[in-house]
Amino acid sequence: MAEQEASGLQVLLSTLQSSQDKDVILNILSVLTNLLPLGTSRRIHYVISKGGSEALLQALATAARAEPPDHGTLLPLLRLLARVGQRDRKFGLKVQKAEATDIILSLARRNLGCHLHLTHCLWVLRVCASNVTTGTTLGINGAMELLFKVITPYSKRHVRTVRAAIEALAALLKSKSNSRRAVNKGYLGGLLRLYQDWHHKDVSNNYIYIRRALLLCLKHITNIQLGRETFLGSQGMEILFTSVQDCLPCKTLDPIINTAVQILRKCYPKEPLPVTTVGSSYSFPLPGKAKAESSCERSEGDYESDGEEETEKDLDHEDMESKEEDYDLETDVNKLRSRPVLDWPKEELVQYEAMCQELCHDFQELDSESEEEKSLEDRTESLFSTPSHFIPSATSVKHPNYRWKSQTVTEMGPDPGEKNFKIPRQSWTRTEKCRWNLIDEKRDIAEGAQDADSCEEEDPARSHTLTLRPLPKEAAWYKKMFCPDCEASISSSPGGRLESSDEVANLLEKHQREIPFHSPHFYMARAKCVKSIAGYKDLAFPDFWGHQPPPYSKPMLERKYGVQRDKVLDDVRRLIQPGDVTGRTVFDLDEPSPSSPGAPGCLKFFSKFESGNLRKAIQVREFEYDLIMNADVNSNQHHQWFYFEVRDMKLAVPYRFNIINCEKFNSQFNYGMQLVMYSVKEALQGRPRWFRAGYDICYYRNHYCCSAAAGGSTRGKCYYTLTFSIKFPHKDDVCYLAYHYPYTYSTMMSHLDILECSRNPKKVYWRQQTLCQTLGGNPCPLLTITAMPDSKKRDDLRQFYNRPYVFLMARVHPGESNASWVMKGTLEFLVSGDPIADLLRKCFIFKIVPMLNPDGVINGNHRCSLSGDDLNRQWLTPSSQLHPTIYHAKGLLYYLCSIGRAPLVFCDYHGHSQKNNVFLYGCSIKETLWQAGCMVDTAVITEDVGYRTLPKILDKVAPAFVMNSCSFLVEKSRESTARVVVWKEMGVLRSYTMESTYCGCSHGLYKGLQLGTQELEEMGSKFCLGLLILHLKSLPCSKKVMAQAALLLDLEEEITDRAQRSCSNSNLETDDEPPCGEEIDYNTDSCSDGEGDLELDREIQECLSWVEGEVEDEGVATEQTCSSKAPRGLYISSQPASDNRALPLRSTALGVYSGFKGSPA
Ligand SMILES: [Zn+2]
Repeated sequence: MAEQEASGLQVLLSTLQSSQDKDVILNILSVLTNLLPLGTSRRIHYVISKGGSEALLQALATAARAEPPDHGTLLPLLRLLARVGQRDRKFGLKVQKAEATDIILSLARRNLGCHLHLTHCLWVLRVCASNVTTGTTLGINGAMELLFKVITPYSKRHVRTVRAAIEALAALLKSKSNSRRAVNKGYLGGLLRLYQDWHHKDVSNNYIYIRRALLLCLKHITNIQLGRETFLGSQGMEILFTSVQDCLPCKTLDPIINTAVQILRKCYPKEPLPVTTVGSSYSFPLPGKAKAESSCERSEGDYESDGEEETEKDLDHEDMESKEEDYDLETDVNKLRSRPVLDWPKEELVQYEAMCQELCHDFQELDSESEEEKSLEDRTESLFSTPSHFIPSATSVKHPNYRWKSQTVTEMGPDPGEKNFKIPRQSWTRTEKCRWNLIDEKRDIAEGAQDADSCEEEDPARSHTLTLRPLPKEAAWYKKMFCPDCEASISSSPGGRLESSDEVANLLEKHQREIPFHSPHFYMARAKCVKSIAGYKDLAFPDFWGHQPPPYSKPMLERKYGVQRDKVLDDVRRLIQPGDVTGRTVFDLDEPSPSSPGAPGCLKFFSKFESGNLRKAIQVREFEYDLIMNADVNSNQHHQWFYFEVRDMKLAVPYRFNIINCEKFNSQFNYGMQLVMYSVKEALQGRPRWFRAGYDICYYRNHYCCSAAAGGSTRGKCYYTLTFSIKFPHKDDVCYLAYHYPYTYSTMMSHLDILECSRNPKKVYWRQQTLCQTLGGNPCPLLTITAMPDSKKRDDLRQFYNRPYVFLMARVHPGESNASWVMKGTLEFLVSGDPIADLLRKCFIFKIVPMLNPDGVINGNHRCSLSGDDLNRQWLTPSSQLHPTIYHAKGLLYYLCSIGRAPLVFCDYHGHSQKNNVFLYGCSIKETLWQAGCMVDTAVITEDVGYRTLPKILDKVAPAFVMNSCSFLVEKSRESTARVVVWKEMGVLRSYTMESTYCGCSHGLYKGLQLGTQELEEMGSKFCLGLLILHLKSLPCSKKVMAQAALLLDLEEEITDRAQRSCSNSNLETDDEPPCGEEIDYNTDSCSDGEGDLELDREIQECLSWVEGEVEDEGVATEQTCSSKAPRGLYISSQPASDNRALPLRSTALGVYSGFKGSPA
């Protein structure tokens, strides 16, 4: 059947090309017109695929030669050409091939006097010009001059023709050489005046499409620098800005407003960021390197570059992108399959033996229950010192004996009795009160003291004093809260900080609510030992005080209609009305004493604390601030993470903040994500929490840029603004704003302290060592967690030694604090009294590096370490000097492999800023080759599909996890990531990156909700459950384990079923960017005019009724005389013009085509 149709259509088309018989041609045109109902593209694409465009162009060439011209044939032919041509992506090329540009131009010239014919020609001209090269040819041949003869100031006459001419001009101006020619001929000013004229006179908004088409001309012409300069010189900004103000109240004028706003954004003069240098405010001298590359040198005129050469833009952008992605896939089978030999020298590897002492521990102490009760004070004191573990460093690596100097014994301590550890099931996380102060932990006091000494010896700055950020003591609420009867003593220390520990203790005593697994004292103790580049002297209140997740999760923010354009217009107003702009710097990391300090009524900012990131704050207007993030240390980019304090706010006032140096192309902030806020006053009133905050949030490209020379990378040349508004909950409060729930290094260290003492040492083998020192001199902890052997009997010990390893890491990217919350959930579960955790510990030995990039986290970086390197791109050849944590993590993994103990599962926890849900990236040869379109000889390549088991399990047990978001492709650009290197070099089949969204979920139980720390922590614990199920499914288990598992997991299965049921009705699609109220245009370069195929169709449709002589608002009387005398009934539908639906097929005319409906799309 399909063949029959195809051949029938081909006969028609070839007849059309060759026939000289007018009636035959007319009838074929009539059949084609009926075949291709208006408003649908499917059949047109089919006709194009069969050579429809070429046939029509050939017919046009023939018809145009006829003298006198036969309009009866030409008009339907031009209509078909316009409709087919606009859907044919190769149309421009075909026009050139058929040498039809001249034909169309001369047809138009000859018909200048007849508007109906002229309009038809202009439609085709416009379609031809959609190809840049063809458009350029048309421009050279005088098309624009021709069009300017047709385009008139405001008039009610011939509006169809005027419209067709302006739209054709807009299409021509997509060619940059046409734009240059137009500017040089003074057309830009002309277009502006025409636009103004139509804007002012079209008071009833009858000709919106003409006004918009004029704007489209301006939009394209300002794509070149000369165009933008001329536009600015012609008062274009003022003219458009003013006209938009008139349009704003009327929603039907949105197309005009949106296009005008696009032009305003693009023409806003480019400026460098208002900072002295783009390089980070912090620099760190690297071992063995002279100076880190950074600093963005400025040179005038450097900021504009057009790439003015003409390029064929016929390729669909999406196609290009997917091609690029596929290009990135590793398709070299040998590379994919290669399993490099372990090439680390044995003497290098031997140092890691000390990190695997569980493999030779004899557990003699299991018998000797020597109880040495320690007093509470001792216990607290000993915790404040860092236990001295083996710390390999660049120097110690060379001397393997060094490692025996001191060893931790924390995992060996006998416990004071079971009674303290009966943690009720199901309550191990949130409701469980931390019991560290009840627990006696065997720690040698002398050793603790020694540690403290050595700490001081090494570096006197190591244990510095830190002060909690001062609370606004002058505020009435503070006095009322803290000192109802001693106001005098408070005011005697003006601006005083909470310096004395007495005061802090007092504060805690009065207000502290127990937050599980958090202790302000432990936090402060740990924070004192942190080494930061800026030498932090302050503690941020939220990290000290703690965060207790709210009992509810917040839905994603609904985007307010038009929020982006409102914000952009507000930005443009700075240029139009410069008098309004304050431009006062109120905070500057580079200049500690700002030029205009303490201006009244102005917010105060601060960011010099752990993980803090804010470089500069500029008050723009009374309640609006521009904020600039600091680049990663020793780099000039990676601006994404922010965390700062703000105070002295007024109540119920919406403050607008603009973070003006974002770099990513798009952001989840455009799709419902909010930032997080912490209010000190709220915390003191019993609600210590980070919560999602901010409204009117959007993310768009702004006018700031970095010179091309200094950008360093190809991107980063222009910046984006994240804007949000906030109403603070209290007056004169101290609030903190952050990109995502902060989780500092000290939070992690104190969390480990608490976990260590809250565990049951009889059941939980816990060992905390230091993997290595970071560049910045901070210890990077390594944990070993497993179950204590049941006894020291041989069988039990053998079971203990033979447990497979699971290797987990997190936070290699410091800005991905979500990864730390997931890790927190994992750790709390692993040491908990939950019977499932108990069983899990008996199945595996966990090696965990909870924070691979402490320096980055401490110094407020987003992506890199102090060396300015992305540590997750260093796994192929990490440097022991520059990337010590990666070097030693890889060394430890290598060591495990070398003794035949490669981990069963390796997982690196990350955060994802573009996608929703939690998901895994894994590695598969076959899936990669298939995706890349390579032939896969399945007989040669055998691959264990075991890598899919864990994500499948997680999809069932973890509500935030979505299997459909997972990917198992190996990209070339990822070849130096932990996941790929561990998979390839160590042969770990289940090597993953776990990505957690910053935003929320698109599927399952949490669909439509933003994730909070509670959901992230739950993910961490469910990951553990997934590991247990994986073990039961994939590995041989003892009867005992199976019996226990059967008992426990029945219950769990029930939970799983329930979770599944609740999400089963959501059909899975991998759409990470839900639609929002307005078209998000974050890229001003977009060449699309946002017009669908339908618009030209509509014009043609309307014109048909015009041809048929329906009531018209223009002077059609004269034109009808030259209109077609052809038997219209045959090929023109009698559908009423108002009906835009497809014309019905006429079965009589179709004949053999009755089966066309089912033809391939
Ligand atoms: Zn990451």
